Amino acid sequence: MDGPRIVVFDIVTIFPAMIDAGLAEGVVGRARARGLLDVAVHDLRSFTTDRHHVVDDMPFGGGPGMVMKAEPFHLAVEAIRERRGGPGLVVMTSPAGRRFDQAAAERMARETSVTWLCGRYEGVDERLVDAVGAEEWSIGDYVLSGGELPALVMLDAIARLVPGVVGDERSVSNDSFSAGQLDYPHYTRPAVWRGRAVPEVLLSGHHGEIERWRREAADTRTRARRPDLLSGTPGLVEGKGEDR
Ligand code: SAM
Repeated sequence: MDGPRIVVFDIVTIFPAMIDAGLAEGVVGRARARGLLDVAVHDLRSFTTDRHHVVDDMPFGGGPGMVMKAEPFHLAVEAIRERRGGPGLVVMTSPAGRRFDQAAAERMARETSVTWLCGRYEGVDERLVDAVGAEEWSIGDYVLSGGELPALVMLDAIARLVPGVVGDERSVSNDSFSAGQLDYPHYTRPAVWRGRAVPEVLLSGHHGEIERWRREAADTRTRARRPDLLSGTPGLVEGKGEDR
């Protein structure tokens, strides 16, 4: 009989402790402990061949900052591919990459393995992407100091889609974006909190009514805040939605 599918992730970084901290707790931490996710963090400096473990150098053509060298990343990817026994998907984190979204997470969750390369400084020597056949992915139109947080963001979004990782899979299918719209609003006890009451229908015990209310609330919220999701062209909508 087939056991659960184990999803394999590798992350190459000069700051392994940052990744370890981000993976230790919560849904991902528990899934690792239960053996559903196999995550390995690789210190880029261990793939250098010089005495000082140098991973960066000055930019050709001059200009500010330093550029990460291609070779240590290349050696890391080769070692990972050998260990994993296949090419897998290699993701170069970059603000210049395609914008990561739920559809991308769903596609990556079907890969046999995903490896993230975390840039720092001005970024990584441009030749690496082509040399290792990487895809460039961005988590949004802002610039972070490194690819560690983007790698953790992508890994977390993908891990939630792996069967068994989130306890009740209905949470995942109801999540925002999964069904092409935003999630409905959630409430918990007390029923009246600081003078604010939860919508009456949620206390009725009437499952059909509750279901209908939630569908309508999700629809109203999506139309107000993210009508682009309904038209099938995701992108942020400026300004405040009416139910904010
Ligand atoms: N000079 C680069 C530019 O303007 O595109 C920015 C380099 S950034 C300071 C250093 C590294 O952080 C990048 O190489 C990338 O790995 C990561 N990074 C920064 N912002 C990111 C984003 N929005 N999405 C994915 N990776 C990002």
